[in-house]
Amino acid sequence: MPELPEVETTLRGIESHIINKTITSFVVRNPSLRWPVPVKKIKKELENKKIDRIYRRGKYLLLESHGQYLIIHLGMSGSLRITDANELKKHDHIDISFKDGTILRYHDPRRFGCFLWTDNPEEHFLLKNLGPEPLGNSFNGDHLFKLSRKRKVPVKNFIMDSKIVVGVGNIYASEALYASGINPYSQSGKVTKKKYEELAIEIIKVLRQSIELGGTTLRDFVSGDSSPGYFKQSLMVYGRGGEECFKCGTLIKSRRIGQRASAYCPKCQTRF
Ligand SMILES: [Zn+2]
Repeated sequence: MPELPEVETTLRGIESHIINKTITSFVVRNPSLRWPVPVKKIKKELENKKIDRIYRRGKYLLLESHGQYLIIHLGMSGSLRITDANELKKHDHIDISFKDGTILRYHDPRRFGCFLWTDNPEEHFLLKNLGPEPLGNSFNGDHLFKLSRKRKVPVKNFIMDSKIVVGVGNIYASEALYASGINPYSQSGKVTKKKYEELAIEIIKVLRQSIELGGTTLRDFVSGDSSPGYFKQSLMVYGRGGEECFKCGTLIKSRRIGQRASAYCPKCQTRF
């Protein structure tokens, strides 16, 4: 599943190819994404206009044009690529074509992504309840500590809740908890302020590191310039259930929390 680093990498990969270029056509071959793509509306708003700005909010990409916004989410298996080829692959559902021949092409085998239009992203139902950006100024240990008081939810679920902080997916939550020595099953309300400070630092670190490396290579992700990322090689616990901890040699445990597999070292990660 594309995570925050993949979305950020996508943004960086496509930005210079699409900004300030006139759009000649918006073509949808299959509008059945997570929500039906409002094809007529987007076509009317985008054709003969320009993308003035592109930015990321959580795992959403926002393409601003004449004060309005196309919201894109990559879902479970979506990817965007820059191409000038008319040759289509299976699951290439959407094209935004520009006057100079550039095409921004959306590919999504499972079709859980979205393309929606809004004139007010801050009030949009997908965006209005999102917590702070983990790489922004308002995210730190104090933020996690304050919001977690009296909460019983396991700390891993807590940091993966987009109302608390956006973009901390399973991989990054697992790795940051390992790096800060916190057991994922600890009650979020019992983790100390000092530990949350360490955790926030590790969340920021793991996300930055991943962005630098071009995002993880999971399933269908291809970065904007078609080069796959390779962060996966340096994972310490995620996907390593049954293998030895790199620090202490204890076998990494893997249990499910909710729907997600959670890997952790029972010795290095303290239960609060
Ligand atoms: Zn260990």
